[in-house]
Amino acid sequence: MSPEQLWQAVLGELELAVSKANFLTWLSNTYILTWEGPRVTIAVPNFFYKDYVEKKYHANILKAIARVTEGQVKEVVYKITAGPAPVRSASSSPTNSAQAAAVGQHTQDMAQAAEVSPNFPTDTPQTFGYSQEHLSRVSAASLNARYSFDCFVVGRRTELAHAACQAVAQKPGSVYNPLFIYGGVGLGKTHLMQAVGHFVLKEWPQRRVLYTTCEAFTNEYVDAVKQGTAKEFQNKFRSVDVLLIDDIQFIAGKEQTQEAFFNTFDHLHRNQKQVVLTSDRPPKAIPTLENRMISRFEWGMIVDVGAPDLETKIAILNNKLEDKQAALPAEVIQAIANLVQSNIRELEGALNKVLAWQQLKGVPPSVEEVKQQLASISQPAKKGALTSKQIIAAVCEYFDIQLEEITGLSRKKHLVTPRQIAAYLMRQELQASFPNIGNELGGRDHTTAMHAITKIEKDLEQDQKIIQDIQLIRQRLFNG
Ligand code: ADP
Ligand code: MG
Repeated sequence: MSPEQLWQAVLGELELAVSKANFLTWLSNTYILTWEGPRVTIAVPNFFYKDYVEKKYHANILKAIARVTEGQVKEVVYKITAGPAPVRSASSSPTNSAQAAAVGQHTQDMAQAAEVSPNFPTDTPQTFGYSQEHLSRVSAASLNARYSFDCFVVGRRTELAHAACQAVAQKPGSVYNPLFIYGGVGLGKTHLMQAVGHFVLKEWPQRRVLYTTCEAFTNEYVDAVKQGTAKEFQNKFRSVDVLLIDDIQFIAGKEQTQEAFFNTFDHLHRNQKQVVLTSDRPPKAIPTLENRMISRFEWGMIVDVGAPDLETKIAILNNKLEDKQAALPAEVIQAIANLVQSNIRELEGALNKVLAWQQLKGVPPSVEEVKQQLASISQPAKKGALTSKQIIAAVCEYFDIQLEEITGLSRKKHLVTPRQIAAYLMRQELQASFPNIGNELGGRDHTTAMHAITKIEKDLEQDQKIIQDIQLIRQRLFNG
């Protein structure tokens, strides 16, 4: 047996014993430097590899080598060796040679490491195992090839939405129609809705799937009206089997578009074509949404997605690492999951940043270093940092009213409730004094502030809408 054959056999065993990502990062670019009787020397690209492989994988390696050589080899040592490994074909998994080379070469400190774009390393164009035909259908439907069920990690707070999407994907148009998914930013709504599209295109390649954002839908409609092509617009959206409209809350206040959407929706629904919608809030909480629209949205199923717990965040990170064929020490993964509060888009950004750093330095960062790197994104709007102005702004944005209105004199109901909620949140979140709250809300009396807060506290005992409104405003304040 040659050293190459021995190492191939050993790697074959190790590949089964460790995760794919760890294997690719730590073991795939090692090789046997010398084999002298009972002693094998393994080449590793730098001191960090040596340290890590010795600590984590020595026992596995020794056992595997002893087994393959039937006890002949009794000692394994590691030697840092610059230069590429000889060509090896042991593993059936493709090794990420670019990454391996980069890690091997960049052993010195690079001062600018922390400065690299958080999007590096970027996803290389991938086919995700799809055929060219499927990919062209995916792009015709305006879907992102990454957003499939396969790439979605189900957590406690997305379980229901995921199940609903799967049900809809399997029987489009006949289970929940429309399916309405709502929740905070970066929690997987777009991903899940597009996964429905992917699934349908795979199962029934001839069906028409179309993804669009509410904004694009609106613009298209406005253009169609301007250019006298309303008929084409109608045909386009009425001829689909599955219509996915993202961030439908932006339809608020756009009456003409609401009308167009309403008609499209009814047409599709009558013909048992599936509609999936997402929003940052439930239908009832979308300001100025016509009642007939609200009731349409409520015909089918409404599900929410929530912020992931720690376990889910770690699972997502591991999944992304596997995707990227990269690895990080467990404590670093844990640290990233801890630092990034609740938004999965940020979680991905943080991971990319740490991987870029690792790639440039050739060594994974310590937990301390991760904390430093992620300092800028790991600071959720802390309660201490929150101000009355932010609370008022968030309430205004949520209810789609102006600052002058909430601080103004009008006692119209659509202004009074937001005003009371703002008072309540200032009290709860900032422990602001009553006079202070009155002041912030346009110089009102402290008794008005007190009354407002008591009113909301009472409402919270039975009014589902207020409970939800406040919950959603809080989500915005604290999840950025
Ligand atoms: P939203 O539409 O709710 O703002 P997205 O669907 O755009 O959020 O998700 C943000 C990013 O996080 C996307 O890149 C998406 O793939 C990823 N993501 C979100 N949830 C998950 C999950 N459960 N598993 C894997 N990736 C996720
Ligand atoms: Mg989205």
